[in-house]
Amino acid sequence: MLKLIILSVGILYLYAAVMLTVKARLSNISWSSVLFRSLLLTPIMGYLYIIKARGSRIIKLYRYQCPRCHTVFTEKLPFCHYCAKDNIKSPLKKRVIHSL
Ligand SMILES: [Zn+2]
Repeated sequence: MLKLIILSVGILYLYAAVMLTVKARLSNISWSSVLFRSLLLTPIMGYLYIIKARGSRIIKLYRYQCPRCHTVFTEKLPFCHYCAKDNIKSPLKKRVIHSL
């Protein structure tokens, strides 16, 4: 009975390590690091590595939008060029875009 329990836990341990490695590979995270941590430490450490690696990949992108004509600019300008053609100097509002 004890052998069966140990065998089941071992199989679950290896399954979790392999599944985390596949998840890391699909997420473009270093799969060898996840496999190493999952097998030698625990699958929990492999999972924590994936979470940490994902968090460091968040990039903040800024865009500037005209509140009048809703045109989006990629660079900061003093006012909207399109509204300036109508003699209206509309200041642009900064917007944050999160991307993975
Ligand atoms: Zn405008």
